[in-house]
Amino acid sequence: MKKIAMTTPIVELDGDEMTRILWHQIKEKLILPYVDLKSLYFDLGLPNREKTKDAVTVEAAEAIKKYGVGVKCATITPNASRVKEYNLSQMWKSPNGTIRSSLDGTVFRAPIMVKGLKVLMPTWTKPIVIARHAYGDVYSGVEGYVPEGGAVVLKFPDGSEKTVFDFKGPGVVQAMHNTDKSITSFARSCMNYALDVKKDLWFNAKDTISKIYDHRFKDIFNEVYENEYKERFEAAGITYFYTLIDDAVSRIMKSNGGMIWACKNYDGDVMSDMVATVFGSLAMMTSVLVSPDGKYEYEAAHGTVTRHYYKYLQGEKTSTNPIATIFAWTGALRKRGEMDGLADLSDFADRLEKACLDTIESGVMTKDLLPNYDGEGKGVTSDEFLDAIASRLA
Ligand code: NAP
Ligand code: MG
Repeated sequence: MKKIAMTTPIVELDGDEMTRILWHQIKEKLILPYVDLKSLYFDLGLPNREKTKDAVTVEAAEAIKKYGVGVKCATITPNASRVKEYNLSQMWKSPNGTIRSSLDGTVFRAPIMVKGLKVLMPTWTKPIVIARHAYGDVYSGVEGYVPEGGAVVLKFPDGSEKTVFDFKGPGVVQAMHNTDKSITSFARSCMNYALDVKKDLWFNAKDTISKIYDHRFKDIFNEVYENEYKERFEAAGITYFYTLIDDAVSRIMKSNGGMIWACKNYDGDVMSDMVATVFGSLAMMTSVLVSPDGKYEYEAAHGTVTRHYYKYLQGEKTSTNPIATIFAWTGALRKRGEMDGLADLSDFADRLEKACLDTIESGVMTKDLLPNYDGEGKGVTSDEFLDAIASRLA
């Protein structure tokens, strides 16, 4: 069989643990037999990040900016125990944080819905797409432990100062930032996406408590909407709706879904896990980082599935769900196909996704999905699941 040709490479970012194992199996069984894959490979596995002093992450981000489409495997964000486990010279930053800051993008996460898989919230009949601002806030915050007491003061460029807190004993402090430019791009990305898919856009913050920081987000969204998008939204029959984050949570729970839920960085991190769980599992969600100038990085929304990896290392066959990682690849292949005018590459991405969904619909799935499946499902290992998908693709 003749393999599908590519013209521009996809920037491929390898990762860690169980997802790294799946990464290579997915390529081997589902992609390489059909596509003459052109990829620029960057190993973001923790040992190589240590070896390159994390330069590999920065290089990968630059390559995505240059070529336009990347696909990323889940990676370990080191904490104190990882520093020991991997004998690290320092606690390297989250690669996702580095790449997101570099691309200044918005992360859109949408559930992968499958016939037969129950949604835990019976009222959510339509998917909820989370749009997560991927720049700044606590993800590029500066923190410190104050061991003795004393005042921590913020100094502004105009020379003015504000006391954060005058400590009388030990405590912790955190400072974070965002920029008008990034918030404006975030607002535009969300509004463009809403027009693209013709869905209502909701945005929320805590402007009553955070009268300058969160209020700035609210004001910028409002200005962008009024000045640039209002007429197009009205023509498309969709709405933009702002409310407080707590009110939004309550309304979303009571809704039928169907909206794009734009969230600040931290809110989006947390809420996307809730939405993913309701729609099936963390492994049943697509995630794409879109920069304001149209660069795309596709990834899975879940982590490296450490618990399964330790079992794998002991020789056990695990039932780790590869769907989100496969859909990261199909997202990247489809986008590359669209950008390069390669219809057969985009068609292949569609066929691979359909093979995945058909496999689950037929009752064959990884064990994480069984509790949500209506009917007699068969829980299989990752290997068996990938083989079942491959046999539908062939
Ligand atoms: P995780 O890897 O997402 O796994 C948490 C649990 O969720 C797993 O133990 C598993 O539950 C379930 N799960 C997640 N993905 C699954 C899948 N594909 N198939 C089946 N079950 C799945 O989160 P974590 O354990 O908190 O984090 C592990 C590492 O991943 C950390 O080092 C963290 O830094 C990193 N991380 C990376 C990213 C990223 O690169 N995008 C995101 C989040 C976390 P059971 O064990 O109950 O089966
Ligand atoms: Mg998260």
